[in-house]
Amino acid sequence: MTSVLPTDPDLAARRRAARIVVARTAHLAFARGLTELQGGNMSVRIGDEVVTTPTMASENDGWRLSPDDMVIHDLDGGVRDGDPRRVSRETGLHLRLYRADPELGSVLHLHLPEALALIVRHAPGVIAASATPYGVPVVRLEEGLPAQTEPHDSRVEELLLAVPRADGAVSISPTHGIIAVARDTATNLAGVERLREALEHARVRLRLRTAAAEGIR
Ligand SMILES: [Zn+2]
Repeated sequence: MTSVLPTDPDLAARRRAARIVVARTAHLAFARGLTELQGGNMSVRIGDEVVTTPTMASENDGWRLSPDDMVIHDLDGGVRDGDPRRVSRETGLHLRLYRADPELGSVLHLHLPEALALIVRHAPGVIAASATPYGVPVVRLEEGLPAQTEPHDSRVEELLLAVPRADGAVSISPTHGIIAVARDTATNLAGVERLREALEHARVRLRLRTAAAEGIR
């Protein structure tokens, strides 16, 4: 445990507030069904630091995280506060995205089941360059890029940098959920909710068309 007690009271307060935001985000994302018990991780940026959920937050803790469970990194991956043994395997990708776009304040990796519908329907690349029709710009990763590898992370970065991001943008992986980014956590969560709603509407419309074709009214 390397807990460096900050001497700057403002820094301590900012870190505390960010830890609370990440803990609430984790609870909310799980409660809303935006991720599940098998995975996900979340972070916020405050200045030159990034506050992340710890590893195995889903499997071990069932997303019942307290603010003190979070790990605080510098932008190069060093641990400034929290338990270094609980560094998430996805931290590298989060930090990479924050370095690539200083305007980003929130990164969410969620196992969002509804997103798979877009994998089936669309080829890799930019699926939607604006918030129409999915609520946020959406990009899709190629097959065969394993998570937590350099080719995967660099392609996620490249795709997300190709679309507007401040109001939320989502990268969908064929096998590993989504990466959502935005200027802050509330904006990011709202964007993921809009995406899910758009996909749910499409599913219901398809079901109604199928029913009508079968003579069910
Ligand atoms: Zn995952």
